[in-house]
Amino acid sequence: MNDTITAKDKFHKSLHKYARLKRFFERFSADPEFMRNLQSDFEDTLKKNHIRIDREEVHYLFEKSSQDIPDSVKKMWEIVQSKQKWVEQFYLKDCLPSNSSMLTWRNRQIKRQKYDLGPFFTKTNIHSSLAVELSQGCSVGCWFCALSPDSLKNTYSHQSHQEEWIRFIQIMKSFLGDAIKSTFLYWATEPFDNPDYEKFCIDLYNETGVFPPTTTAVAHKDIDRIKEFIKISSKHGSWLNRFSLTSLGIMRTVHKNFTEEELAEVECLPLNKNANYTYGNSGNFRERTKADPSLLIEQDEKLRTAPWHNQDIDYSTSEDYANGSICCVSGFLVNMVSRKIQLISPTTATDKWPLGYIIFDEAKFENIKDLKTTLIKWENRFFNNEMTPDDLVQFYPWIKPHFTEEEIILQGRFNQKKQFFVNENPCMISIIKIINSNKCSFKDIQIKALEEFSISLIDSKKIINTLFSNGFIIENQKH
Ligand code: SF4
Repeated sequence: MNDTITAKDKFHKSLHKYARLKRFFERFSADPEFMRNLQSDFEDTLKKNHIRIDREEVHYLFEKSSQDIPDSVKKMWEIVQSKQKWVEQFYLKDCLPSNSSMLTWRNRQIKRQKYDLGPFFTKTNIHSSLAVELSQGCSVGCWFCALSPDSLKNTYSHQSHQEEWIRFIQIMKSFLGDAIKSTFLYWATEPFDNPDYEKFCIDLYNETGVFPPTTTAVAHKDIDRIKEFIKISSKHGSWLNRFSLTSLGIMRTVHKNFTEEELAEVECLPLNKNANYTYGNSGNFRERTKADPSLLIEQDEKLRTAPWHNQDIDYSTSEDYANGSICCVSGFLVNMVSRKIQLISPTTATDKWPLGYIIFDEAKFENIKDLKTTLIKWENRFFNNEMTPDDLVQFYPWIKPHFTEEEIILQGRFNQKKQFFVNENPCMISIIKIINSNKCSFKDIQIKALEEFSISLIDSKKIINTLFSNGFIIENQKH
């Protein structure tokens, strides 16, 4: 727990220390005109955009510096690195499912994501176990939305449902254990569409000890409500809130109405089209890029300027677009209005999974008893260490096996590779060839391996399950 407190304190300390500079870079990364305007009139441009820093702090932008990395950039890195440390400590160590079979399933999904979505996505993702929607649909309708909600239909009422809501959290907590702390209360929804959003967050805090992070696209609309919310979340120890700023005008309104200190623990994400930020290629945005591929080329060019991309040869030599999903849940997605629960995990969006996540299954629940039944059913069906004899064994289509005399290499997207040594796994090549040449069940592969290559049932079982546990095999397909 001490490590957790230290990690959060360090992150928050850096956010407060550099709150003014942070605001400068929010504008800088959103607005291509901003630099030109700064050059022609520095003071006036800052004033118009409600930014207060000294020219000295960003002098590297105007004159050649002997420093490799300017101080102001180092300060922003300090924020990024302290955030990453917090994410690793809290989400990847403190928030693990106590249900060991779910933990195994989650670990397998995380391994797969490295080959499917790349190492940067996988390392920085929070891999939450539960997201809950408190509305049906979304009132905002962003053109780039990666999750494509319908328009707003209905919201979950706190007054009518508080008892059920608390019972819901308790049931999920008893199933998830510590992973309940990774819960957040929005998905394809705008949190503040629900007039009781704050009350639901406080109930979650009272039951789990954690106030959930919030992302909103309407921070500029009801400013008093949002200011009050920031105070409430801070009072309850929330680690972060995020504002999605979908236009430069909205950014200006937000920067005008909130002080730097008020927004210190708020990430302001510039989501206007010309910002440095790139959109996830799923949902609405993917529909647009299918109709106009130049849109994706533009985004890809931006993405390739990021240090984690252009300084990593695996990314820079790959043609894949490295933002194929915005999903951050390997676990349950629940809508309290439609009473639907899904088991999901991130994947690069395709026609099969257009929203950028696999839906392993979904079910409706009328009441808490139904919910419990579904959790137990899914635990037995999905959260297994090993494949069953009737499971169909097929690699994900983006896994490409290669063989050398000494090595077996399974290559995923972004040149991600897993190597096995032939001398340690003498039967693996034969098993991989059988998997790739036939659409076979687990038991049929074992029989073929025995008949054609004299591979024992024990050895074939071990090899297939090794491939499965590394996340290379499509899950839960029956023959
Ligand atoms: S990005 Fe968020 S606010 Fe915008 S449409 Fe999608 S869910 Fe709604």
